[in-house]
Amino acid sequence: MTHSLDDRTETLRDQLERQFREHTDQLTELTVYSRQPDRGGHDPDTLRRLIEAAQQGVADTAQALRRMSEGSYGTCEGCGAEIPVARLEILPWARYCVPCQQRR
Ligand SMILES: [Zn+2]
Repeated sequence: MTHSLDDRTETLRDQLERQFREHTDQLTELTVYSRQPDRGGHDPDTLRRLIEAAQQGVADTAQALRRMSEGSYGTCEGCGAEIPVARLEILPWARYCVPCQQRR
C-alpha cells in the first residue's frame, strides 16, 4: 500500500516536531554537561560529537518544518523530483532523493 505525500504530511509533521523537541532537549542537556567539571562523565571528543549531532538534528528538523510551511517539502533540492514518501517516512528531514544523495 502506497500513500501520497498529502496523506502523510500530518504524520510526518508530528514526527518532525517530536524529533525537533528531542534534539533541542538533548542539546540543552549536553550544553549543561559541557559546563560541568566532569562534563557529565563524557570525554571532550565524545561530548563535542554529541553536541554537533544534536545541533545538526535541530537544524535538519527545523529546515524540514520550514519547507513544509513553504510548500517545498518533499521536493528534491538537487533535481527537483518528488522524494518518495517511503524515503520521507524513514528520513522525514531528507532534502534529496536517493540518487542525488548518493552523488553528494
Ligand atoms: Zn534528486
